[in-house]
Amino acid sequence: MTRIEPNPHSPYADADPDARHLLPSPIFFPDPQPGALALAACLRLAVVPAETLRAVHTIPDGVFPEGMCDACINAFHAEMAGRDVVDDRPCQTCSACGSSTRHDGLCALCRQEAHARWWAEQAAASTTGEPRPTA
Ligand SMILES: [Zn+2]
Ligand SMILES: [Zn+2]
Repeated sequence: MTRIEPNPHSPYADADPDARHLLPSPIFFPDPQPGALALAACLRLAVVPAETLRAVHTIPDGVFPEGMCDACINAFHAEMAGRDVVDDRPCQTCSACGSSTRHDGLCALCRQEAHARWWAEQAAASTTGEPRPTA
């Protein structure tokens, strides 16, 4: 089995940078834009890769490729079984907007805004138009 690449790097992602994360199902959400910071199944933020991995379409038997985030896999199975996925990280106050967040001191919305600016800067600074990998 081939190992799947992790999601693209962002300093504002709080999901495990060495794992590939499952992104929201397009049944309930609009398709996430590649390069955007989105909430993964493990409830952490990861950058949407150019090729989205869709659990429902590509993983019919629940067998995930190597390199997948364990928490995302657990969340996938929990969802299939109708159980809620809970985020057990401590609640903190967002240092930018003051809202309550579990995303390590900076809330999801502030992370997404900061990421969008950072991503655009990376793209502008790159001759290929693609953000340079900085991991
Ligand atoms: Zn994950
Ligand atoms: Zn915030």
